[in-house]
Amino acid sequence: MLFETIDQQQEEWAKWVLRRQRGIPNNRKLFVLACMDERLPVEEALGIGPGDAHVFRNAGGLVTDDAIRSAMLTTNFFGTEEIIIVNHTECGMMSASTEDLIKTLQSSIGDLSAVTLDPALPELQLTTSHALGRWIKMFEDVDEISMAQVAYLKNHPFIPSHVQIQSYVYEVETGKLRKPYARLSEHVNNAKSMKEPLNQ
Ligand SMILES: [Zn+2]
Repeated sequence: MLFETIDQQQEEWAKWVLRRQRGIPNNRKLFVLACMDERLPVEEALGIGPGDAHVFRNAGGLVTDDAIRSAMLTTNFFGTEEIIIVNHTECGMMSASTEDLIKTLQSSIGDLSAVTLDPALPELQLTTSHALGRWIKMFEDVDEISMAQVAYLKNHPFIPSHVQIQSYVYEVETGKLRKPYARLSEHVNNAKSMKEPLNQ
């Protein structure tokens, strides 16, 4: 009967639309924190599709206050049990120094201590340029920073201890993911490097 098919389709649609109300987690019970970079095809790299994950992207794929806020909500209230962080090579967050960035902002804005970070939360203030630099979070080593993000989330009281957390580095130059420090390219060019154990 056609009406049975139509009824089933409508029930499937209602399940999709009303997921949060019904306490249905995303398909993979997965939260992804990734850099916003346009060269990072995060869904393709992880092999996930629509409905599979909550995906949070920011500059660097870094654990900021809003990344923690989103991870806290999805792991405590939306059934998420796994977090994957994706950073990448040639990230813009390694392309300039914090000092240069702050100088540029100061030259166009003036007094940075008067800037409100979150218009809905004026209590959130960074009154020194040193703190502002740490808030911007430029970094120098993608492997090091990738591992640090895992530790930040694992140690955060808002993230339940049963949640599994892992990070990867997406190599823009190869289009592949690797674990931090597991650079296959360093193990293929000469006899010495071929004998060295892969660090992963
Ligand atoms: Zn990036």
